[in-house]
Amino acid sequence: MGRRGIKEYRAPEALALIAADREHAPLVCPSCGTRSIQRVPRRRTSRPGAAAASAERISLTCQSCGRHASYIERGSDVPVDDTVTPRSASE
Ligand SMILES: [Zn+2]
Repeated sequence: MGRRGIKEYRAPEALALIAADREHAPLVCPSCGTRSIQRVPRRRTSRPGAAAASAERISLTCQSCGRHASYIERGSDVPVDDTVTPRSASE
């Protein structure tokens, strides 16, 4: 079955790219090493409180080698870092 035109990342590559996106790290293509990753939709840089409550599909495509990965970002349900605990004691 040849879906030509769209090349998927191999699983470890996709996971690395998705992890970088979730950490808001610079997106570098794990396959060809360029910074030509196009993220759809674009990152929200402002109004962090306005995050969508529903799941959102994030698409990451390398414009250099044409590989593609996507994942579902869950709006209000996104796991937080261990260092950021919203329910810690407020003093
Ligand atoms: Zn690439």
